[in-house]
Amino acid sequence: MSKTVLVAGGAGFIGSHLCDALLAEENKVICIDNLVTGSRKNIEHNLKNSNFSFYFSDISEPLSLRDKIDEIYNLASPASPIDFSKIPLKILNANSIGSENLLELAKKNNAKYLFASTSEVYGNPLEHPQKETYFGNVNCNGVRSCYDESKRLGETLCFIYRNYFGVDAKIARIFNTYGARMRENDGRVTPNFIMQALKNKPLTIYGTGNQTRSFCYVSDLVKGLILLMNSRFSGPMNLGNPQEITIAEFAKKVIELSKSSSKLELNPLPKDDPMKRKPDISQAMEKLKWEPVIQLEEGLIKTIDYFKSI
Ligand code: UDP
Repeated sequence: MSKTVLVAGGAGFIGSHLCDALLAEENKVICIDNLVTGSRKNIEHNLKNSNFSFYFSDISEPLSLRDKIDEIYNLASPASPIDFSKIPLKILNANSIGSENLLELAKKNNAKYLFASTSEVYGNPLEHPQKETYFGNVNCNGVRSCYDESKRLGETLCFIYRNYFGVDAKIARIFNTYGARMRENDGRVTPNFIMQALKNKPLTIYGTGNQTRSFCYVSDLVKGLILLMNSRFSGPMNLGNPQEITIAEFAKKVIELSKSSSKLELNPLPKDDPMKRKPDISQAMEKLKWEPVIQLEEGLIKTIDYFKSI
């Protein structure tokens, strides 16, 4: 049966792919975005679809919608480390006031709610790989704190609305995700390295390059989000690809796959940059029967092709 689904942050990188997947399942999709980091280009192909509507709106402002909503996905937050120093209060407000506004809307509509939380709630983790039971190691006075702490608060709001107001509020903890529609100048490692490789410029490694990340292709992630929404589980649930790689190895892979002549260049490591990150996804595998299927090489080739085309 067709549902009416609100996607906050629907013009962003992950949000726009989620809108596409929900439309493909014949749902009505209402996309809200303030276009601070999202882009009209990401949703342009859906603007003529009668099942799709777009509202230029900020979730941290009061919301009023006429439609009866069945599900709300909250992906409305800038998520790149370069945004943390540029717009810290916008990030904090989106995940706190914005989350509360959307939870109120969920309560009023008796709608299901899914919060896009993050592996950043684990901070610079002392436990490896990270399980959902780990409480994390977060610096509340650091450059990343506007994001880490507001996402943690966003999770607490889910807990409160679930336990005191009976809202079916779910939490997905999203690990590093990559793919088409990432912002070219977003500052994150995937667009940075690919753009540098395509221009045969040095790849800017921060620190020694021994820090690790685990990269999940966007189509895998979107499938996980939809499965979690449709399940009877509320999480918190890690969604990510457990294939771990050092940043130096990742750089070499990007150079190889883009047939670039770029070299590696070492730069200072930003403060509070987590040294390792890898999701334990046994919960998602067991409860959602979900695991990523796109291998890093395959996903990187698609992503390189996207950046070549823009
Ligand atoms: N990084 C890097 N060079 C870049 C951008 C990022 O070496 O040009 C590193 C960064 O220091 C971090 C990792 O790549 O250790 C992933 O960074 P990103 O900003 O993509 O996401 P994070 O996982 O830190 O939120």
